[in-house]
Amino acid sequence: MKIHWLSGFLLIVLPFVSAQPEPLAANPPPAVLLGYSSQNAVLQTQWEGKFRDGISPANIRESMRRLSARPHHVGSAYDKDNAEWILSKFREWGFDAKIETFNVLFPTPKVRVLEMLQPTHFRARLQEPAVASDPTTGQTAEQLATYNAYSADGDVTAPLVYVNYGNRDDYEKLERLGISVKGAIVIARYGQGWRGVKPKVAAEHGAIGCLIYSDPKGDGYFAGDAYPAGGWRSSEGVQRGSVMDTDYPGDPLTPGMGATANAKRLALKDAKTITTIPVLPISYADALPLLSALQGPVAPEDWRGALAITYHIGPGPALVHLHISSNWDIKPVYDVIATLHGSTDEGQWVIRGNHHDAWVNGADDPIAGLAPMLEEARVMGELHRQGWTPRRTIIYCAWDGEEPGLLGSVEWVETHLDELQKHAVAYINSDTNERGFMLPEGTQDLQNFISGVARDVQDPETHLSVYERSHLYSIAKAKDAEERGDLRKRNDLVVTALGDGSDYTAFQDFAGISTLSVEFGDEDDGDQYHSIYDDFHWYTEFVDKDFAYGRALSQTAGTAIMRLADADLIPVDFSPQADAIEKYEHDLEKLLKDKQDEFTERNLELKEGVFKATNDPRRPLLPPHAETVPPFINLAPMKNAIVLLKKSAGRYSLALSTYNSKGSAALSAQSLASINADLLRVPRLFLNQKGLPGRPWFKNQIYAPGAYTGYGAKPVAAVREYMDEKKWTEAEGQVPQVAQVIDNVAAGIDRAAQDFESALTQTH
Ligand SMILES: [Zn+2]
Repeated sequence: MKIHWLSGFLLIVLPFVSAQPEPLAANPPPAVLLGYSSQNAVLQTQWEGKFRDGISPANIRESMRRLSARPHHVGSAYDKDNAEWILSKFREWGFDAKIETFNVLFPTPKVRVLEMLQPTHFRARLQEPAVASDPTTGQTAEQLATYNAYSADGDVTAPLVYVNYGNRDDYEKLERLGISVKGAIVIARYGQGWRGVKPKVAAEHGAIGCLIYSDPKGDGYFAGDAYPAGGWRSSEGVQRGSVMDTDYPGDPLTPGMGATANAKRLALKDAKTITTIPVLPISYADALPLLSALQGPVAPEDWRGALAITYHIGPGPALVHLHISSNWDIKPVYDVIATLHGSTDEGQWVIRGNHHDAWVNGADDPIAGLAPMLEEARVMGELHRQGWTPRRTIIYCAWDGEEPGLLGSVEWVETHLDELQKHAVAYINSDTNERGFMLPEGTQDLQNFISGVARDVQDPETHLSVYERSHLYSIAKAKDAEERGDLRKRNDLVVTALGDGSDYTAFQDFAGISTLSVEFGDEDDGDQYHSIYDDFHWYTEFVDKDFAYGRALSQTAGTAIMRLADADLIPVDFSPQADAIEKYEHDLEKLLKDKQDEFTERNLELKEGVFKATNDPRRPLLPPHAETVPPFINLAPMKNAIVLLKKSAGRYSLALSTYNSKGSAALSAQSLASINADLLRVPRLFLNQKGLPGRPWFKNQIYAPGAYTGYGAKPVAAVREYMDEKKWTEAEGQVPQVAQVIDNVAAGIDRAAQDFESALTQTH
């Protein structure tokens, strides 16, 4: 129930309201906003309504047109131009804004040669042609050539081997086929995980070069008509991208500290995150002659793509020459940081970010996320002029250098670590935006909160609430009856864990700050990820033509920011998070059980002679290795800690519902201050200063990416990664310190619950 007629009136009274606002007596909405007193919830609902009504798709469109008009990668003229334009806009809207500059290692292509020398000669084009109907595709002089940033320099000639996605499982299969990649150049298709894992695993198996191509099965005509007839990748489209190794994100020369002008830098040869072999991304037009020239075994069925060839693995007879070298320059990145100072709780920061750099014109990635973010800030500036001042400080960040390796956000978080750990309430990220569903990711202390936000935003095409649509979508997508049953019992959206892959990484994994990633997607009519065709013309023809979902993103993320910033109590609820952590522990148990069963069965079949008897002598496979069956692992310390965690979380949730059911009487300023101080500390307790085994930068013991999954989250990575490596003793060795972290979190929540309970007694 929106109260449109009130808006004008409110402007005048709001700043002075201290008692129950009168005009709302007629049927007010049930004012249960997490962490709000009844009275403030009513005011908040009105301001948020005005905010959402103020969001204009036309402005979002115009920002996208402006920001994606020219290529704007790190170090380009238009990257800086955009940063300055964004700065001027934030200032115009009343934010206290500045640019923070860091100096980072950013390699750009110098030499790129790919040719086949045998059995026939072919030289790869390595160039995305302009499309006549699409004006920005012809900006050749400013476009960054197709390459993988942070590939090692190298000049190699070797037989070619097709390795499917190039994951570890694929190499196990190759081994059984009796094929080695030692001394070979591998060709992997894009998909199934972070691209940087492909050259890493290839090098671990002895390959000396790596090609990554976009197969039309996953990315091209198999999905729909290719551009410009349709929105999908055309034969010569190439996915650029970083292949930085996963030891730590950010500037390779300054791990763990800000890449400021005078920072101490590693020598290039000591930078751990540059690949060890040369890597190059190619189109399927360039891949086709190479793959067609392979012989050797026919690829297993699930390795085959959608090219009109029989997929062979090799090695050879295709002999390939790959020569890559980069300009290893230090380049500036420009983060635009814009602050709207809070009133009562200026020292508590609510942070929102999206990157502004792109690989080329980047309409979808990143401007489809950035333009709505700017529109949020514009409307908040407008509300501020009308009398709204957030209780907490709001900080809007337009990051530079996300594409090469989260450079801008990581260096900023590393530089401001102490302040952030003292002040940051939460970080909300977006990166792209398309049509479809909003499936939140992040830390589940914000699950209840973001579900509430999603209830108050309307899906532009179905007119259901964003909550309802996403909730029902997750039921439709559930894998089995049990999961559907679980979802039907819920009255919140499930927040899935984040690993790595966008600017939330340093906040969550390094600084211990609660995060959310909010974007719409899953109803795509095309994809031009990291190519010159991801531009304004393509986006407005095939993706969110009328920016209805751009508006929905502004409304969702902006409402979340305002609601976090204005709440009396930081609006977290830990029960969903305790449940999620319990599930991560169950997943570990299940993984162990599955491995025990799998290896027991395999060893039995080896003994029975199953592999020998079923092997086709014309297409022989080597039998799999016998494996030691994993021992039982003592997860009891974690399970005990989780019992405590659930108890503390339940205690806090109970206090929260008592607060709400009592009509959320205002708590004293002193009570609020002490509970909020407790709440601010809890996310930091997820950290362990030693970090993950072998990856000390990643300090969060629950939320982390996998070393071999990159983007993908691997909750409780310290234990899980060792299990993946079949190092069972080491896995067990990590359990006590994970348990300790969970204990610490439980104690932190308990303290908040205790302060909350005593504050509630005082309001009687
Ligand atoms: Zn992006």
